[in-house]
Amino acid sequence: RSEAIEYVLKRAHDEKVRFIRLWFTDILGHLKSFSISISELEGALQEGMGFDGSSIEGYCRIDESDMMALPDPDTFITLPWRKKGEENVGRMFCDIKKPGGEQFEGDPRYVLKRMLKKAAEKNYTYYVGPELEYFYFKDDKTTEFQDQGGYFDLTPRDVASDWRRETVLTLEDVGIPVEYSHHEVAPSQHEIDIRYADALTMADNVMTYRLVVKEIALKYGIYATFMPKPVFGVNGSGMHCHQSLFKGERNAFFDANDPYNLSDTARQYIAGILKHAPEFTAVTNQWVNSYKRLVPGYEAPIYLSWARRNRSDLVRVPEYRVGRENATRIELRSPDPACNPYLAFAVMLAAGLKGIEEKYEVPAPVEENVYEMSEKERSRRGIATLPSSLEEAVHLMEKSELIRETLGEHVFNAYIENKKIEWAKFRAYVTDWERNQYLSVL
Ligand code: GLN
Ligand code: MG
Ligand code: MG
Ligand code: MG
Repeated sequence: RSEAIEYVLKRAHDEKVRFIRLWFTDILGHLKSFSISISELEGALQEGMGFDGSSIEGYCRIDESDMMALPDPDTFITLPWRKKGEENVGRMFCDIKKPGGEQFEGDPRYVLKRMLKKAAEKNYTYYVGPELEYFYFKDDKTTEFQDQGGYFDLTPRDVASDWRRETVLTLEDVGIPVEYSHHEVAPSQHEIDIRYADALTMADNVMTYRLVVKEIALKYGIYATFMPKPVFGVNGSGMHCHQSLFKGERNAFFDANDPYNLSDTARQYIAGILKHAPEFTAVTNQWVNSYKRLVPGYEAPIYLSWARRNRSDLVRVPEYRVGRENATRIELRSPDPACNPYLAFAVMLAAGLKGIEEKYEVPAPVEENVYEMSEKERSRRGIATLPSSLEEAVHLMEKSELIRETLGEHVFNAYIENKKIEWAKFRAYVTDWERNQYLSVL
C-alpha cells in the first residue's frame, strides 16, 4: 500500500468516516457523485470503482459505458455539512479510467492534467486565483433579492453577511483558504475569493466552493446561484481569473526593470490570451445566458484589450506593490463562474503558452475607457471584440486548432455537439422580450 493510501485509510478511521463520496465532473462542469461504504474504501483506492458512464454528459455511448473512478488520495476531506454524530462522510475527486485501466480521454480533470504536463515540460507551474461571484435568491424559481446592499456594503441586520461568514468558515474547514469576501455591486450579489493555488488544486477547489456556497444557502432556506446573468439591469456574475507562471520559486511574470513590472514572458502570455480569447470563449462562457453578461455597462469585458487600471479591458494587470514579486500576475475578466473550471483553466493556459512559444507581440495597453471610445477609434487601434453570442463563440471554437488540441478530440466534439443543441433550442424559443416588444404593435 502506498503512503498516500495509508494516509487516507488512517484519516477515514480516525475521523469515523462511514461513507465516501467519489466526485468527478461531466464536460459541462456539473459535479457528479456516488457514495461507497467504508468497507469498499481500500479497494476503491487501489483499483477504482466501476460505474455506468453512459448517462454522464459528454462521456460515452451505451456500447462503451463501463467506466472506473479512481480516487485521488490527495483530495480527501470530510464534509462538514454531512456530519452526523459518529458517522462522517468523506470525499475524494476521481480520475476516470476505462475498464482496462487506460485513461478515459473524456474526463475534464485529465484534460487539465495533460495541459499542465505540457507546461511542466517547460518547467512552468501554473497558478490561478479565481474570484467567483454569485447571487442569493429566495429559491430557484424567482429572482427576489435577499438584500439591497451594494459594493463592499456592510449594512446592519444584513442577513447575507452571516450566510457569507458561515460559507467562508466552511471553506476553511475543508482546507480552502479564503482571502477576501464582500458584498458585490448588485443587490443580493456576493463574492468570496480563495487564495491562489496550482491550477489542478484550484479547479477541484472551484467545484467544492460552488457546492459549499449552495449547501450553506440551503441550510438557511435560500438559494445561491452562479448563473452568469440572472437579472437584467444589474451586474452579472463573473469569475475573474488571476494567473501567473512560476519557474521553481521564481515568478516568471515579474521583471523589476519593466514599467509595468512585467517580464517578456508575461507580455507574450497576455498576447496569447488576447489573440485566442475569441476561440476559447465558448469554454470560459459556455451558456446562452453567459453572453447576456458580456454587454456594455456592467463591468464585464467585451473588447480584446489589456491595461493596468482600466476594468473595462479583458486583461488587467494589478498594480505592483514593492516586495510582492510573487504576486505579479494578470487578471482575465471574461470567464464566468458557471464554466467547467478544468476546461477553462486548460484553454486559458493553452492560449498563454502559445503566446510564449510563438513569441507573440503584445499590443499597446489601453488605459482609457474602451467603452467610451468611438467605433472608429477602436478600429483604428485594432481593438476587436469577444464573440457576442454562444452561436458565434461555438463557431469560432470549432475552427480552432489550438482548442481542439487542448481539449482533445473526444471532449472537443462532444462539447461542440452539446452547445449546438443548446443554441438551437434557444433560437427556436419565443421570449418575453419579443412579446413585450411586438404583441401590441404588430
Ligand atoms: N460583476 C462584474 C462582472 O461581471 C465584476 C464586478 C467587479 O468585480 N468589480 O465581471
Ligand atoms: Mg474582486
Ligand atoms: Mg467582483
Ligand atoms: Mg477582479
